[in-house]
Amino acid sequence: MQTFENYTYERPDLEQSKEKFAVLLDAFKNATSADEQNEAIEQINAFRAHFSTLFNLVYIRASIDTNDEYYQKERDYMDEIAPEVQKLDTDFYKELIKTPFRSELEKKWGTQLFEIADYSIKAFAPEVIGLLQKENKLTSEYSRLVASAQVEFNGETYTLAQLGPFMQDKDRDVRKKAASAASGFFEANAEKFDAIYDQLVKLRHEIATTLGYKNFVELGYIRMMRIDYNADMVANYRKQVQESIVPLVSKLYKKQAERIGIDSLKFYDESIEYKTGNATPKGSPEWIIENGKKMYEELSPETNEFFHYMLDRNLMDLEAKKGKESGGYCTFIEDYQSPFIFSNFNGTSDDIDVLTHEAGHAFQVYQSRGIGIPEYIWPTHEAAEIHSMSMEFLTWPWMELFFQEDTDKYKYSHLASGLRFLPYGVAVDEFQHLVYENPEWSPEERKAAWKQLEEKYLPHRDYGDMPYWGTGAIWQRQGHIYESPFYYIDYTLAQICAFQFWKRSREDREAAWNDYLNLCKLGGSKSFLGLVEAANLQSPFEDGTVESTVQAIEEWLESVDDKSL
Ligand SMILES: [Zn+2]
Repeated sequence: MQTFENYTYERPDLEQSKEKFAVLLDAFKNATSADEQNEAIEQINAFRAHFSTLFNLVYIRASIDTNDEYYQKERDYMDEIAPEVQKLDTDFYKELIKTPFRSELEKKWGTQLFEIADYSIKAFAPEVIGLLQKENKLTSEYSRLVASAQVEFNGETYTLAQLGPFMQDKDRDVRKKAASAASGFFEANAEKFDAIYDQLVKLRHEIATTLGYKNFVELGYIRMMRIDYNADMVANYRKQVQESIVPLVSKLYKKQAERIGIDSLKFYDESIEYKTGNATPKGSPEWIIENGKKMYEELSPETNEFFHYMLDRNLMDLEAKKGKESGGYCTFIEDYQSPFIFSNFNGTSDDIDVLTHEAGHAFQVYQSRGIGIPEYIWPTHEAAEIHSMSMEFLTWPWMELFFQEDTDKYKYSHLASGLRFLPYGVAVDEFQHLVYENPEWSPEERKAAWKQLEEKYLPHRDYGDMPYWGTGAIWQRQGHIYESPFYYIDYTLAQICAFQFWKRSREDREAAWNDYLNLCKLGGSKSFLGLVEAANLQSPFEDGTVESTVQAIEEWLESVDDKSL
C-alpha cells in the first residue's frame, strides 16, 4: 500500500499539457452522442484530476515545511500556472454549456454541473490571467509572512500557532503578555500587512471591472459559487444574527467574567472560560489519535473504514513544528483518492476539534469520492462546513475519551463558543462587503470601518491597553480576508445548520446520523440550499431559523450551572 510520502510529484510541462488537453476537448466537441460525450468527459476529468493531484501535493508539502526550498519553488511555479490551468477548465465549461446533449447529460449529472460551469465562465477571461497571477503571489506572500513569525515570549521564540495555548493560560498576566506578543508581531509588520491587503483589494477591483462588474462584491459571490442566494439575503441574515444573537453573546461574556472572577472582561480574557482553566485533552498527540481511532471505530462502520484508511496511508500531519504554516485544513488528492488533514496541535481543545472538524471534512470527501465528476467531490464552502461542524457535535458521546474530568467544561464551551463565533463571523463578512464596495479606501479607513463593526457586532469587546489590535487591525490575522475573499459567512451559515444536527441528534440519533451520512454522500451534487433541504434542515436565510435554532442552545446553556465547572 502506498503512503503519502510515496505519492509522486513531478513538475508538469504546461505546453505539453495544453496540447494534450486540446485533443481531449476536440473529442468532446466532435462527439456524436451523449454516450460519446460522457466518455470524453471522463478523459478530460482524468486529466484535471492529475493536475489537481500535483497542485495538492505541492501545496501540502510546501505548507508542512515552509523552509523546504524545493517545494517553495514548486509552489511559486504552481501559483504562476494556476490561472492557465483555470483557463483550460473554463474552455471545457464553455463547450459543455453549448452541448446539444444537455438534457441527456443533465439526466445523468443533474443541473448543478451546468450552474458551476456558468459561474466559472463568469469568473474568468484570458485578459485577467496576469492579474490572477499577481493575486496568487500576494496571497502566498501573506501566508509566508504569517508563518515567518518568530515571536519572543518568556525568553523563547514561538510561531503564532504555538502562542495559542498561552493566550488561554489561567494566569491573566501570561494571557495578556501572549496576546500582546502576537499583536506586537502584527504591529512590527503593519506596513507589510497593510500593503499586501491594499494591493489585493485594488487588484481584485481591477479583475472585477475588467470582467465587466461594478466592483469585486459581485465577482466574489460568483467565485464562491453562491448559486442560490445573494448579497441581500446575506444582509438580512446578518441582521438576524445582530438581533437574536448579539445580545445573547453579550450575556454569555458577562457570565464568563463572573465565572473567572474579573470585573471587566478584556480581549485577552475572552479565551479563558473557567477559573480552573479551559478543558484540555489529557494526553499526548499519539494518545489523542489512538482515542480518535476508538471513537471512529465505534461511531459507525463508515467512519471506522474511513479512519483506518487515513491512518494506514499517513494522511494526517497534525503536530505544530517550526516552519510549518499556521491553521488547519483538509484537502483531497484525487489520483490517490486520499483526503489529507493538516493541523497544528497545541495541547488545547482545538486538537480535538481537528480530529472532529477536519476529519468531518475528510469523511465527507471520502464518502463522495466516487461520485464521478470532480465538481461534485466537494460541495461549496458553506455546505462543506456543515459536514465538519456537525461531526463536532455527532462525536459528543465520545468526548469523555479525550477530556475525562473536563468533559462538561468542554461541552459547555463548545456550544458557547459556537454562539460567540457568529457575530464575529458576520462582522468579517460585512467588513469585506464594505472594503470591496470602497476600493479606494486607505488602510486607515479600513481599520476605522472594522472598529465600527466591532461596536455593532462585538459591543462587549475591550482591548484594554493592548497596542495595535485595538486600532481596528485584528482582522489582519484572519487569513481568509487575504486569501479567499468572502469565504467566511460560510462558517456562520453552517454553524446554524450544525446546531440543528446537534439538536436532532439528541432527539433521534439514528435519524440524524442517516441524514448526515446521506448529506456526505451527496458531496457537491446540489447547491447549498438544495443540500440543506436534502438533509432535512431549515434554511438559515428563512426568517425565524436563526432565532429558533439558537433558542435550543440557549436553553441547554442556561440549564448548566456554569460556575461549578
Ligand atoms: Zn472547516
